Formats: sequence, C-alpha cells, structure tokens
Amino acid sequence: MRSYPRIAIIGAGPGGLTLARILHQAGVPATIFEREEHALARPQGGTLDLHVESGQLALRRAGLYEEFLAIARYEDQGSRLYDKNGTLLFADDDADESDRPEVDRTALRNMLLAALPEEMVRWNRSLREVCPRDDGTYDLIFESGTAGPFDLVVGADGSWSKVRPLVSSYRPQYSGITFIEFGIDDVDASHPDLAALVGRGKIGVEADGRGLIVQRNGNSHVRGYAIFRVPLDWAEKTFDFAATTKARARLAAEFEGWAPVILGLIKASNDHIVSRPIHALPVGHHWQNRIGITLLGDAAHVMSPFGGEGVNMAMLDAAELARQLLENNDWKNAIKAYEADMFERVIEPATHAAEAVATELSHLGAELSLEHYRAHLEARVQGSAA
Ligand SMILES: Cc1cc2nc3c(=O)[nH]c(=O)nc-3n(C[C@H](O)[C@H](O)[C@H](O)COP(=O)(O)OP(=O)(O)OC[C@H]3O[C@@H](n4cnc5c(N)ncnc54)[C@H](O)[C@@H]3O)c2cc1C
Repeated sequence: MRSYPRIAIIGAGPGGLTLARILHQAGVPATIFEREEHALARPQGGTLDLHVESGQLALRRAGLYEEFLAIARYEDQGSRLYDKNGTLLFADDDADESDRPEVDRTALRNMLLAALPEEMVRWNRSLREVCPRDDGTYDLIFESGTAGPFDLVVGADGSWSKVRPLVSSYRPQYSGITFIEFGIDDVDASHPDLAALVGRGKIGVEADGRGLIVQRNGNSHVRGYAIFRVPLDWAEKTFDFAATTKARARLAAEFEGWAPVILGLIKASNDHIVSRPIHALPVGHHWQNRIGITLLGDAAHVMSPFGGEGVNMAMLDAAELARQLLENNDWKNAIKAYEADMFERVIEPATHAAEAVATELSHLGAELSLEHYRAHLEARVQGSAA
C-alpha cells in the first residue's frame, strides 16, 4: 500500500479546508490546526464570487459541487456604479446567468467542514512556530501545547502566516488603502430604499478621493466597505471602534455632502464596524523549495482584494497541491511541482490586483471605475455569446 507523509495543515480557511477535503476523499490522512476556538467563533466575513476555472473547479474536485449549488447565489451577480449625488452611471442588473455566483464565507466554510470528519480539525490551536527536528520532520508549537512530528507542514494560515518564515523572509506590505467595514442586517424589511439602491449584487461609488463598495450578502444582509488612501495608523487614531454608534457617525462625517440615500447606507448600519488595512506580498513572491514545508493561499501570495481572486487562488492552490500529492509517487517531488506551477499561475492575478490597488482612488476616480465596470460587462457578454 502506498504511504503518505504525515501532513499538518495550519488554518481552516477556504484553502486549508479544501485541501483537507480532497485528501480525505482520497483516503489520505491529514490534521488541520486552527486558532479559532470553534467553527462559530466569529462570523467569517462577506460574500465571495467563486470562478469556474478556480474556486468552482476546486469544489468539483472536492466532490462538493452539488452542495455548492445549494448555497450559491447566482441571482446576486449584478453591479452598479453611482456618483456621489446618487445618479446611476452604470448598471449591469441582468447578470444572473453569469458564472461567478456569490457565496457567503460562513456558508462556504460550513459546507467544507460538514464534509470532513470532526476529528480532522483541531480547534483552539494557535500556531506560534514550526520547529525543525534533526531527522527532517517538524514539531508544531502552539500558544498552548505542541504537536508532531509531521513530515509535511502546509501553511494555509493566511496573510500573517507563522509557517512562511521557514521559507521566506517577506512580510505583506501595507498598500496605502484601508477599508472600514460596516453592515446592515435585515435590509429588505427595514430599509427598502437602501435595498433598492444596492439591487442584486454590489455597488460602487467613488468621489472626493474616497470610495464605497457595498455588497448584498445572503439572508438580507448588506456589507459595505468605505475606502480611504491613508497612513496605516489612521483608522485606529480616527475611530473608536468599541463605541460603534460614535464610530459610524465619524465614518458618515467623512462622506459629508454625498446624497442622503448613499449616506443612509452608513447611517443605517447596525452590524460591527472594523478597519481592514489592505496588505499584499510582492507580485512574484516565491521561495526555494524546502523539504516538508509549503504554503498556499494568502500565506503564499496575499494580494489586494480588488480583483476578487484571493479565495479562488487559495482554493485552486489547495486542489493543485492535493492533485500533485495524489498523482506523484514521491511526495517531495509533488511539492516541488506544485510550487513551480503555483508561482507562475499567481503572477497574473497578483499583477492585476496590484495595479487595481495602485489606481484605486486615483485622480481619475470614477472614470477608471466606469471603464472597469464596462470592461467587466463586455467580457461577460462575450463569454456568454461564446
Ligand atoms: C476586506 C477584504 C475583502 C475581500 N474580498 C474578497 C473577495 O470578494 N473575493 C476574493 O476572492 N477574495 C477576497 N478577499 C481575500 C480572501 O479573503 C482571501 O484571499 C482568502 O480568504 C484566502 O484564503 P486562505 O484559506 O488562504 O486564508 P484565510 O481565509 O485567511 O484563512 C486562514 C485561516 O488560518 C487561521 N490561522 C491564522 N493564523 C493561524 C495560526 N497562527 N494558527 C492556526 N490557525 C491560524 C485563520 O483563523 C483562518 O481560519 C478579501 C480580503 C479582504 C481583507
């Protein structure tokens, strides 16, 4: 019988869980170590669109495509652009046949978790460091306790990976862009005017060197990001996030003079309000292969979220890493092949994401956004005609 390395996956995000699921399906044991205390410890965040050739492909390989269709929101793929006076500049409201359906992060995570045996995920294990042993294996040192030895440690632990330092000295750099995230619960019943403004999908507004992206999530929830080009410590100095009402009023003040219906999105928010400074690793980030250590997803190539590729790349990495491990008789060669492909594959989306964050809130403002929205529509129409 074929033997596999003892595998530890750090992080139960979309990347780590997809890898674990595909391995489990093939009968390959692996253990996930996740720092959160349990599956419901925190809401997982907003909505994501999964692309056919990456996120959806990974779910097909994981045998979860039917389950995905049950949670996918094909009806929420629209996009609109407004100016700050609330005038509609662009609308693509007929995108429900598009092939990038939305899915809520929490629903995606629950689906992946339900497809794994409970004992495969060790919750409340916050990795502090990975310690190499003399025999080439690794021990895991957690905030409390240790585990090991493992032959292969996969860092699927996001932007601030504790596995990455074993192969790379790079750390994500602040892009200059900070998102302030807010949300509105029960928008359809409580705020039909705002629900109509957002429509079935997402809207963008950009003016005066600041922007808003607001997206419809599942369960009548709307999530918004107010976008600023500011120093890294600006948000913490400007907002008292513990005093949510005060923080929302402070945020609304940043958009003074904008149409009341647009300001209404911030004023009606009744969910948490938090700062999300956007960081990225350099385009082309790579490392020398080291036996027994590899990375996937944001740990390997965190990029700005503007291209909407982060989760798709993480899941495709997972699917490709699993494929190499299953198809290659020598697991060490499998890792080398996975890394060589992944470094190349990620260059294009990372380049787009870097360009997008560099031009975000530029002096051309909404003009560039309009161009982007039109190009997106054209690509969609051409795609459905082909
Ligand atoms: C504001 C914002 C909006 C975004 N919007 C989109 C979008 O629309 N579309 C898109 O494709 N992408 C988007 N992204 C990017 C996307 O969130 C990531 O690319 C994606 O989640 C990466 O998946 P991952 O599995 O690699 O890492 P993560 O999702 O970060 O998961 C990492 C997991 O590891 C765990 N972990 C971390 N450290 C440790 C540790 N020390 N020990 C144990 N466990 C640990 C974490 O708790 C987490 O569960 C957005 C990002 C941001 C910040």
